[in-house]
Amino acid sequence: MRDTLSLLGRGDFPALRRRGVSALQANLGYRCNQTCQHCHVNAGPHRTEAMERETAKLLLELLGRCRATTLDLTGGAPELNPHFRWLVTQARSLGCEVIERCNLTVLETPGQEDLADFLASESVQVVASLPCYLEDNVDRQRGKGVFEASIRGLRRLNALGYGTRLTLNLVFNPQGPSLPPEQASLESDYRRMLSDRYGVVFTRLLTLANMPIQRFGSMLASQGIFDEYLSLLRGAHRPENLDAVMCRDLVSIDWQGYVYDCDFNQMLGLPLRLHGRPRVHLRDLLGESLADNPVVVRDHCFGCTAGQGSSCGGALSTQAESTLAVDGLSGSGEPAMGLRARFAPGTAGVDLR
Ligand code: SF4
Ligand code: SF4
Repeated sequence: MRDTLSLLGRGDFPALRRRGVSALQANLGYRCNQTCQHCHVNAGPHRTEAMERETAKLLLELLGRCRATTLDLTGGAPELNPHFRWLVTQARSLGCEVIERCNLTVLETPGQEDLADFLASESVQVVASLPCYLEDNVDRQRGKGVFEASIRGLRRLNALGYGTRLTLNLVFNPQGPSLPPEQASLESDYRRMLSDRYGVVFTRLLTLANMPIQRFGSMLASQGIFDEYLSLLRGAHRPENLDAVMCRDLVSIDWQGYVYDCDFNQMLGLPLRLHGRPRVHLRDLLGESLADNPVVVRDHCFGCTAGQGSSCGGALSTQAESTLAVDGLSGSGEPAMGLRARFAPGTAGVDLR
């Protein structure tokens, strides 16, 4: 995989400062029951990196001290971390909302048969990647049989009240070098197709832009269209999105407890900056206020502010117009046609679940 950090300048992205910390997003490790080709952390069943209990305790301590209201758990498959259920229960007892980023197939993994019941019993908010409502597209991106297993997982969650009483959000990101279509219209398409064909309901669809980093950025670079994709993002920059980018209120933590301004910066190895330290650990943040701390920005940040904007919570603005069409899905306009025409078919965006 090609290095993409060296392709991202400090450029002209506006300087950002934090409001504070209202959410902690923690990567619990790289173990996963799947081995998707496009995975940005190369997760799989044989990866052993996992957040340890002591680090998870520090995470909870920071959660309490900074009065964050949300703990957002990701991976790999975060549920496969041996401390996952303990962490969820502790965070819920502190009164925090817990979000977990679920690949859906993990619900059928041996030993996880009661996972869906556990999530429902703790009212955990589930965010699940379903990059399309068409079986072929999902299986091409995530592996054969994944679509069917995902539908079984969604039905199981629905039966427990997810999508109605409990929050079940789905995540879409484009399969190529284009911006996501308008979130609300794509959400209606998803709602209609999943309900009519499979009887599945969900709470919201979150549309996310692909970041020119890691595997996706590497594919752009190897096909000679990295700069063009960056120009697309830069050209669609909307200053009004700056107020809502997630790094103003969220801190991202890796499996070892090191801290970043967001998950993308974590993937790039760009640590949060505090008092000139080269790296900041969870334990360094106990007793610190991050209010007004500068955010580490690079050119990839235009991926958060382009068009309707993009964050782990989906589009930032519901006002922005739709900017493109996506293969097999709804949308309008095609500013990135030349770019897409030169993008090798079968390649896929990073998993931003
Ligand atoms: S993309 Fe997600 S589901 Fe696939 S291997 Fe990576 S973490 Fe697992
Ligand atoms: S990429 Fe990260 S640091 Fe840059 S704007 Fe988006 S959330 Fe903020």
